[in-house]
Order: sequence, then C-alpha cells, then structure tokens
Amino acid sequence: MTDPVPPQPITRVPTGRLWAAPRLAERLGARPITVEQLAAALARTHEWFEANSGWAPPDPETLADWAAEGACRAPDDCWTPLHGVCRHGLVAWQVVIDELEELDAATLRKP
Ligand SMILES: [Zn+2]
Repeated sequence: MTDPVPPQPITRVPTGRLWAAPRLAERLGARPITVEQLAAALARTHEWFEANSGWAPPDPETLADWAAEGACRAPDDCWTPLHGVCRHGLVAWQVVIDELEELDAATLRKP
C-alpha cells in the first residue's frame, strides 16, 4: 500500500537561470556587424527556415533570460549577440522576432 502522491502545483516563474557562459555577451559583442551584413544574414536565415524543419521560436521567457545576458541564440542553436549573427551567418531569434513584429505593426497601420 502506497500513499497517493499529492499533485504538484504548476507555477510559472522566471527561471533567473544563466544560460550563457560568463562574459559571453562581451566576447560575442566583440564582432560588430553592419546593417547591410545584418540584412543579408536575415535573408539567409529565411532561406534556412525553408531548407530546415523542426525549428521553433523560443518562448518569451527564454528570450528574456537570454537578453538579460546580452545574448541570444540563432535558429541553428548557436549563441549570438542579442541582435547579432552566428558564425554560420544566421541572425539571432531576437532579430527574426523584431522583424516579424515590425511587419505586423506595418500591416496594422495600413488598412
Ligand atoms: Zn550557427
């Protein structure tokens, strides 16, 4: 005879977990890129989305955890600067999401 295990309450709290290595943002930030490079990387990232499956954008809590450290991940899971590009030329999720939000905002403004 075993006692039933009481159900665990499900709570949603910020993790406060550190995802990135110490000084990661500093090291990543040491490679500045131009607006033109970022635009090219964004186009490359959309090509990557078409050629690859199984990716999903991170949830807002995870993005916020990364951003708190000045870092992000690219869709291929590389660490990137928050608004940067990974070594394979893909942009950070933050850049993808920023662009989608700008598109949404532009669409909303134009009836
Ligand atoms: Zn990469």
